[in-house]
Amino acid sequence: MMAAGRAGELGARVLLIEKNDRLGTKLLITGHGRCNITNKAASSREMASMYGKNGKFLLSALSRFGAGDIIDFFESRGVKTKVEKGGRVMTGSGNAGDVLDALAGYMAEGRVDVKLNAEVRKIVRQGNRIEKLVLAAGEEVAAGRFVITTGGKSYPATGSTGDGYGWAQRLGHTVAPLSPSLTPVLLKDAIVKELEGLSLRDVRLSAYKGVTRFASGIGDAIFTANGMSGPLVINMSRSIGKELPGEVALKIDFVPDLDFTALDMNILKGFQEGPNRLLKNSLDELLPQKLCPVIVRLAMIDSEKKVNCVTKEERKRLARLMKEFSLQVAGLPGFDKAVVTAGGIELCEVEPKTMRSKLIENLYFAGEILDIDGPTGGYNLQVCWSTGYAAGEAAGSR
Ligand SMILES: Cc1cc2nc3c(=O)[nH]c(=O)nc-3n(C[C@H](O)[C@H](O)[C@H](O)COP(=O)(O)OP(=O)(O)OC[C@H]3O[C@@H](n4cnc5c(N)ncnc54)[C@H](O)[C@@H]3O)c2cc1C
Repeated sequence: MMAAGRAGELGARVLLIEKNDRLGTKLLITGHGRCNITNKAASSREMASMYGKNGKFLLSALSRFGAGDIIDFFESRGVKTKVEKGGRVMTGSGNAGDVLDALAGYMAEGRVDVKLNAEVRKIVRQGNRIEKLVLAAGEEVAAGRFVITTGGKSYPATGSTGDGYGWAQRLGHTVAPLSPSLTPVLLKDAIVKELEGLSLRDVRLSAYKGVTRFASGIGDAIFTANGMSGPLVINMSRSIGKELPGEVALKIDFVPDLDFTALDMNILKGFQEGPNRLLKNSLDELLPQKLCPVIVRLAMIDSEKKVNCVTKEERKRLARLMKEFSLQVAGLPGFDKAVVTAGGIELCEVEPKTMRSKLIENLYFAGEILDIDGPTGGYNLQVCWSTGYAAGEAAGSR
């Protein structure tokens, strides 16, 4: 939509072809329906570094149309934005539909034609140019330039079924291996079911292979029916995936601000202030309520015990569980639950300023189909805005 809008703005005759019966099906579910448009915490250079080694490909597109530009773009089209934790720029209304409406408005200004319920089946090539597309219904669409923006393979029910990768390969492009990225984590422990729905704020999560800690971070997480999700977990899934298959353990530190000794002293102080309170009611200031009985049970202490009867050894067991709550990773769900697809069109085969294919003269790529993926926080849509703008500008120029 960004590519089509920009090309239309430059006066090109544009047709956007979409197989769904409406545009932006995935966009509407971004950010839990609130759309995390971009991230304000970073400069273009810092932002590019968030995508790992492939980030430098984005530098040119980001400097031409970066986070500030997309915020201005939407604000000027009536989309209020607000900045949340970690620089996440969200729709002010909490409705991703505003973003879709603004893009639809942009395309209408540029007189972009939209063809819905139209699945591209085949790309017909003539030498090193694309001649035409063939739609599922048999209809053929000829054009001077083509931009492929079919997205990744994740959440295929939204229409992103990875069709563009096969087309690109048949045109001679290389597709870097595809894998689900940014997924929830499935856990083996039965206790997870008991904790389902529990939201955790600012906890430290560490991931271990054997005794080696390979990832760690502080943030928010949530227990699901069969594992954990939330920004902290989803971002860590990228490094967990690399260690699987194999025994991977997660350790949650529910009180990262206090070291073990300080936590023990804190628990003791609480016990001394209300010596006759029952243990089950006396950890609420340190832990979410739903977690207290679980921690007490795992510490093998009678929850009906009065705190003045809790031994020093028992108190230390409580503190250890609060600092090192250990869970075993069962695996990661596949593409169905992945926020993005890692891998994609090899970037060395695409011109970074224009998104033009280096192999096919009149072909451009934009969005998730490219081999760039970032963490949560608005970084993945920013790839779409920047590369879409660049591709639209180049394909739409006379
Ligand atoms: C649940 C979820 C939440 C997310 N939240 C955020 C967020 O808040 N912030 C963020 O930055 N990123 C988020 N993302 C990632 C972001 O949504 C994607 O990276 C982005 O939508 C990719 O855009 P795209 O235009 O490249 O592809 P897509 O959005 O996947 O669009 C591709 C379109 O091409 C169409 N298409 C595919 N094949 C064909 C064909 N053969 N013929 C015709 N049409 C076809 C599809 O129907 C689809 O509409 C989220 C992803 C998910 C799954």
